[in-house]
Amino acid sequence: MNTRRIRMDSHKIDRTALRQAADLIRSGELVAFPTETVYGLGADAMNPEAAGKIYKAKGRPSDNPLIVHIACYEDLLLITDQVPLQARVLADTFWPGPLTMIIHKNGSVPRETTGGLDTVAVRMPGHPVALALIAQSGCLIAAPSANTSGKPSPTRAEHVSADLDGKIPMILDAGPVGIGIESTIIDLTDDIPTILRPGYITRDMLESALCGEVRVDPGIVVSEHGETVGEGARPKAPGMRYRHYAPKAELTLVEGETDCVVDEINRLVSEIKSEGKKAGVIATDETKSAYRADHVTSIGARADEEAIARRLYQILREFDRLDVDVIYSECFDTPRMGGAIMNRLKKAAGYRILHAEAKN
Ligand code: AMP
Ligand code: MG
Repeated sequence: MNTRRIRMDSHKIDRTALRQAADLIRSGELVAFPTETVYGLGADAMNPEAAGKIYKAKGRPSDNPLIVHIACYEDLLLITDQVPLQARVLADTFWPGPLTMIIHKNGSVPRETTGGLDTVAVRMPGHPVALALIAQSGCLIAAPSANTSGKPSPTRAEHVSADLDGKIPMILDAGPVGIGIESTIIDLTDDIPTILRPGYITRDMLESALCGEVRVDPGIVVSEHGETVGEGARPKAPGMRYRHYAPKAELTLVEGETDCVVDEINRLVSEIKSEGKKAGVIATDETKSAYRADHVTSIGARADEEAIARRLYQILREFDRLDVDVIYSECFDTPRMGGAIMNRLKKAAGYRILHAEAKN
């Protein structure tokens, strides 16, 4: 299959291309499109065959449900018989935006879309191209991230092409996305709203919008060694249970005071070099020049957590193209999005984390 990649200006949408993309969605085909979090791979959410094509193109396990994207609040009534009050409050506060809600589904949503579950994930994205595509198609659009399963989520159309060229008919390319990590997922089907996946919208933001307690799924609370802690240790979101992306080179995270981290990484790099191997380092603008590795990449200024989130997947993809045997990374426990950033980075590192101690 020939994949057409159509470049689009988010603020001056190409109506002809949009109509073609919407026609493809209506006829049960796949279209990759930008959202504010990552690129999505879209299909008509109410058409079981179309949803099935998403799993095939991504190589995604069939029990890993899709997020349904809507363009107006009333569309919630097409997928559920009862909109929880909390969903109304959260939609008012955060939609359109990077928040996915899990609610009970009605009989119209095919099991192919929800991976066999009787709940459904729904989000109203904030990207103008995503909203225009949903509205123009007249469909609800099921869309997981537009990558091959097991690869980092795509933050640019080039990443979608690298994974899906030849497998889908069209990619709408509106340049790099704004946020760069996937939406926060909150489950509203339990007594206490529960975060199943951390993201740009934090627990504090959710608690203040709901004026009440929000839990974090114990299944995603990971101990230093990568074991889940707490009872019910199996993550509730099926996608959080799968083995996640690991770079080709072995990635190790080093945490601690910045100066100690730099010293420890330089020590590890010399060790690796003495074995005749090559090392890469994920640094920040502040520390980049202090490293003596074969390849040093800055993820951005340490204080700019939005830039760190935006660049994370791109950097992981870049390292796969480089000839290094091991990668060492600083940790980015930034104040607001640190939980979401470190959730992805720890998975990519297979939970290999070292603590750098001060030497005296
Ligand atoms: P992606 O869009 O690729 O980020 O994947 C969607 C994520 O939402 C995956 O982790 C899914 O397991 C999760 N998800 C979708 N629907 C549900 C649901 N009904 N219950 C729990 N998790 C869900
Ligand atoms: Mg994904």
